[in-house]
Amino acid sequence: MQITKFSALKSAALRRATSAMFCTNHKPLLVILGATGAGKSKLALDIAAKVGGEIISADAMQVYKGLDIVTNKVTKEEQDVCPHHMIGFLSPKEEFTIVDFQKNTMKIIDEIHKRNRLPILVGGTNYYVESILFDFLLKTKGQDSDLTKSNIEHRMALNDLSYIDAHKQLVEVDPDYAAFLHPRDKRKVIRALEVFYETGKRMSEHIAQQRTQSGGSYIGGPVRFPDSCVMWVQCEPEVLKDRIYRRVDKMISRGLLKELSEFHEEYNKERLREGLEPNYEHGIFQSIGFKEFHSYLVATSSNAHENPQILAEATERMKLSTWQYAKYQKKWINKRIVNRPISVDVYGLDATDPEMWDEKVFTPAMKILKSHFKSNSGLSIVLNDIPDEDYHLQPLEKQTAADCKKSNRFKACIVCDGKLIIESDWEGHIKSKKHKHFYRKMQKKLELTSEILEARQNHLSQRNHNNEVSIERIKSAEENKLIMRKQALETGPISTETTDSI
Ligand SMILES: [Zn+2]
Repeated sequence: MQITKFSALKSAALRRATSAMFCTNHKPLLVILGATGAGKSKLALDIAAKVGGEIISADAMQVYKGLDIVTNKVTKEEQDVCPHHMIGFLSPKEEFTIVDFQKNTMKIIDEIHKRNRLPILVGGTNYYVESILFDFLLKTKGQDSDLTKSNIEHRMALNDLSYIDAHKQLVEVDPDYAAFLHPRDKRKVIRALEVFYETGKRMSEHIAQQRTQSGGSYIGGPVRFPDSCVMWVQCEPEVLKDRIYRRVDKMISRGLLKELSEFHEEYNKERLREGLEPNYEHGIFQSIGFKEFHSYLVATSSNAHENPQILAEATERMKLSTWQYAKYQKKWINKRIVNRPISVDVYGLDATDPEMWDEKVFTPAMKILKSHFKSNSGLSIVLNDIPDEDYHLQPLEKQTAADCKKSNRFKACIVCDGKLIIESDWEGHIKSKKHKHFYRKMQKKLELTSEILEARQNHLSQRNHNNEVSIERIKSAEENKLIMRKQALETGPISTETTDSI
């Protein structure tokens, strides 16, 4: 009895000692985000080497075995720098969901904390990162299991509504939540209406309640690790685009084509032989590269793959897809992490110039780590030699709640037949191909009806222009004369001196 009691006390003391290192409520988690090619893997490696961290890849494609080049896996040498997790352990034939990722990763983070090391989550796939940063799976009544007959009828009636009418109905019952949804996001609009009719409570109230109870937000649940710190490796768009394009070329010289062909041979050819379409919607086949190189891959048998045209087009498609994905990632991080009403601190690091890596990325990152985790005794030992007196970096500013609401307001585009556009997306919309297409169409119509008028106007304005030009010419000739006289007076002697000295 005594012994049992003693050992229980001893293990409690041990637990206390460990939790003093990484206090249960203040378990550190470092998250590194950034677009493909921005430099997030390099930063993760540099930090891990410095502070004794372990890297967890939050990348939906890197969990699979094989395709190391196309999924951009870290090399064997890089994996020797520190332990890496969630990389290349799954057969390409298996499905892997966000729930699997969440379950596996939470276990890994817990183990890393027990080893008194810093878990560094590097993403990759942004919603995988989100599932770890936030406890965001919203559970309310009205799941399929408790559907009554009247519920089913009601849901069917709701589904029959047009998206505009459904959104209108939501504006009436829950204007706060309606302001956060795009009317076209009918699935979420209907879900919010269902929640209201089934629970008698507005979706916004459910969320507000969750938020006050546990630190959740409009978008979802609370921050899982209150002490987590997010670093966002950023890069000037033009530089990033160039880097991405060169990276694809580098992938090809490293053996991308062979890698894709072998994989295609093993997994997709059978489907094609059976008359099925190749599957690019599941698992690792969603990687950027497969769809883009499809015409090249199927051309292999007829030797047409040596056709430089097919290869060039596929390469161009891959570059473009990767670049578009990078732009999407940026938008997503801003929306779901930086501007999340209740979120974690996000620090931006500028990796545009690789020559300035230490000054602009690594050193600021270490300072952020020091200031963020200084109360964490387990980490403060390794962070001791970093001076903190010249620490100036502030987390990225969040839009205020009013800004967020504003950014979710809609504007109707007259050119695009009254299509509703979120205000914050307006700039992007008017630059979009679709809008420009409709704009040109509209312009042509107008041109046809006002051709004569325009011709006349052009004629008139040309005459005016000619008059203006001649007046301008006289004016500027007069001005030039004046300037030359002035210069001759002021600078005359100096120019003489210069001539003399030569
Ligand atoms: Zn438009």
